[in-house]
Amino acid sequence: MTSTVNIPFDNSFSQLPEQFYTRQDPVPVAAPKLIKVNEGLATLMGIDPAPLKSEDGVQMLAGNSVPNGASPLAMVYAGHQFGGWSPRLGDGRAILLGETIGTDGVRRDIHIKGSGRTPYSRGGDGRAWLGPVLREYVISEAMAALDIPTTRALAAVETGNKVLREEGPLPGAIITRVAQSHIRVGTFQYHYSQGNKDNLRILANYVIDRHYPEAKQAQNPYRALIEMVMDRQARLIAKWMQVGFIHGVMNTDNMSIAGETIDFGPCAFMDTYHPGTVFSSIDHAGRYAWAKQPGMAHWNLSQFAQSLLPILHEDAQVAVGIGQETIDEFQDIFSNYYFEGFGKKLGLIPLQHGVTLQHGDPDFIGDSLKLLSDNEVDFTLFFRHLTGYARSNLGQDQGAEDQSDQDHKEKLQNLFKEPEALTTWLQQWQARQDQEEASTEKRLETMRTSNPIFIPRNHQVEAIIQAAVTGDYAPFEQLHKVLSDPYTAQPANARY
Ligand code: AMP
Ligand code: MG
Repeated sequence: MTSTVNIPFDNSFSQLPEQFYTRQDPVPVAAPKLIKVNEGLATLMGIDPAPLKSEDGVQMLAGNSVPNGASPLAMVYAGHQFGGWSPRLGDGRAILLGETIGTDGVRRDIHIKGSGRTPYSRGGDGRAWLGPVLREYVISEAMAALDIPTTRALAAVETGNKVLREEGPLPGAIITRVAQSHIRVGTFQYHYSQGNKDNLRILANYVIDRHYPEAKQAQNPYRALIEMVMDRQARLIAKWMQVGFIHGVMNTDNMSIAGETIDFGPCAFMDTYHPGTVFSSIDHAGRYAWAKQPGMAHWNLSQFAQSLLPILHEDAQVAVGIGQETIDEFQDIFSNYYFEGFGKKLGLIPLQHGVTLQHGDPDFIGDSLKLLSDNEVDFTLFFRHLTGYARSNLGQDQGAEDQSDQDHKEKLQNLFKEPEALTTWLQQWQARQDQEEASTEKRLETMRTSNPIFIPRNHQVEAIIQAAVTGDYAPFEQLHKVLSDPYTAQPANARY
């Protein structure tokens, strides 16, 4: 069935050779029901949000009809999952409908997930249940509000079908996901492993055109591509760590070439700070723990570089040399983003990117985090109350955001098992602040915009899912709303 909903599609991925995907329509569902449409995102993408909420729009979002101009397909990719090689994965429960070019000029994929079986489903049912759909909706939109590159949620619908999971039959749902593209490290690995150099080159050129056009100017555009992907990835992982985010399944098929956070499976924001924190119930070895994420990104990027070897240089030895040399830069690039970001959280302002802070700051940052883990301190609350403390302590006391700034010292102290340790640390922090050249205003504003007050805590996400299963979407709406403005105190929402 064709939908009457008008989406200004401008599809490019579907014009790639047939080895890149299988053309496939979504599989219809019983009784679609709208959960939410992201009106702001729709408008940004050049889509009128009102028709999406109509009966026709909801049928389309559930996969019961295909909009005019769509070219539905399931993408093929491969990947290393927890280190083990899977030669063929692909969209096992998702369909790429097509792309639009937004009012901001950005090309984005419209992708419906939970839309039924495809040739890549392996043993799976091709479906999603309501829980993960709401998780992805709330957490991806919270990420976007935190200003962290991420796929986003355009809509969510219930299907009216039950999905069978370990817990029993659960309500089925579909999320419409939006990404700058759904090309992954695993997409490159797939074409590399197929040994089809032409397709590999087509893919690399497509990615350069779509995401990294500046690479075309470089002497070796494919080397530049690795450098640019690596830079975005390093920046992304540093940003995750600065909000305490743990992705949980950093497999190569879950690493976006565009540098967006993708696939919100068993991810979470940590409460108590500990570098070894793991959330995924399937990650027994702690492979993807908070502090291991840069190492895993590095490993994944090595796989990316390896998959480009056939086109990096005609001489295989030279190609390996170029790939290795490029990937070896990861640690330095990452460290810059990491220390700069943590510096900002502490009110230390780097002069410019790459000229990081003062000598000794990385040690100070490391010692500060150690203090937090020794005292089992809540990560988000520490930086949030430090920001409040700074506001009342660094002079002027301008811009007091809420009445409670004076309480922040006490609130900080309450987070520590040994409050004296905090007192000593605050003296060191103050001494370092005294050497800061940036104005107090600038420091406070940097701290405010680096230290979120609201993050999606796991128990809250679980609570909205519990309520939604009984048909009550009010908690989902409320949590989503609070998280849309994470850096501003919302006294009425203090319980979050
Ligand atoms: P993920 O762990 O979500 O990144 O998924 C890994 C692979 O398994 C991807 O190729 C998915 O498309 C596929 N997959 C996950 N869940 C299902 C499902 N319920 N049915 C079919 N394929 C699935
Ligand atoms: Mg995945």
